[in-house]
Amino acid sequence: MSLKNFFDFNLQTLKQFLTTDLNIEEKKTSMRAKQLWQAVYKKGLSEFNHLTNLPIELRGELSSNISLEKPKIANTQKSSDGTIKWLIQLLDGNKVECVFIPEKTRGTLCISSQVGCTLNCRFCHTGTQRLVKNLNFSEIVNQVMIAKEQLNDWQEQKIITNIVLMGMGEPFYNYDNVKMAVEILKDKDGLNYGSKKITVSTAGIADKIPQAAREIRTYLALSLHAPTDEIRELIMPINKKFKIKDLIEQCKYYAKTVNEKITLEYVMLRGINDSKECAKQLTKIMAQFPCKVNLIEFNPWPGVNYMPTERKEMESFSKIIQDAGYVSTIRRSRGQDILGACGQLRTESQKRKFN
Ligand code: SF4
Repeated sequence: MSLKNFFDFNLQTLKQFLTTDLNIEEKKTSMRAKQLWQAVYKKGLSEFNHLTNLPIELRGELSSNISLEKPKIANTQKSSDGTIKWLIQLLDGNKVECVFIPEKTRGTLCISSQVGCTLNCRFCHTGTQRLVKNLNFSEIVNQVMIAKEQLNDWQEQKIITNIVLMGMGEPFYNYDNVKMAVEILKDKDGLNYGSKKITVSTAGIADKIPQAAREIRTYLALSLHAPTDEIRELIMPINKKFKIKDLIEQCKYYAKTVNEKITLEYVMLRGINDSKECAKQLTKIMAQFPCKVNLIEFNPWPGVNYMPTERKEMESFSKIIQDAGYVSTIRRSRGQDILGACGQLRTESQKRKFN
């Protein structure tokens, strides 16, 4: 029998495997699966032999049939502001990045859902890397496991308190794997992140938003970045397919179904989307569904043609939104010196060509 990787199971398929392949009595499979699940996801178990509460023969059986191998860290970079970026080499050799951002009261881990991206947002470094592949759910969850291992985050009081799917890729173009990964992240017997501790960020794949409202049910962040179709199309080609009008409709539905505000992400590009007129147009969008806006400092990367908006201008843009009665925050850029900030992630993985 070939070795299975533990992280490719969900709880259901793990139970099945224990019954059909390891011949564990059916009445005991739920208990055994739960023990394994908790040991791996809650305590960071790395060898079945350490599970002294299991019979020794079972530990042997598990070790010879299931591997606990995870992707490896290929490089670690620490920013002067405490942000850490890990370059992770997946078991198939592709590379993906994830970033830990420590703050006073919380620690956020930003994870990726694809290697590369198809969307080519003009201000985004990841967008210059062609899509190499969709990550499978275990590759998404393992970014969290690796970060927890690095930070020794196995106590009740978590170091990584929040998870955002805002790294490389468009989560809704890898919907099924993202959905399964979020289920594993939420599992109370495992990693135990509540829905309000996870944010899925989309560039605006409008037709997936209602399904996500019913099935994924985390916080939703929409990368809006412009208040009109004209400007949005300039910087986000996906707007040719899904217009702002569609996004507003689907965001209304999401906010109502999940009963939460949507976060609008808005990267500020000098002379492109940062005028007073833009701010006023943005408030008209914000009037249509419960939401708040995060204004993001643009982080230049090698070869990009955009410039960041001056801080003072960002503040007056923000004030127009606040004066209209909406929440607007300016997100300080983190990890810029290690290209770990928003929109700066990119790896050297390329799609292999087959002749
Ligand atoms: S901003 Fe997001 S969706 Fe757009 S190119 Fe970058 S990774 Fe892809």
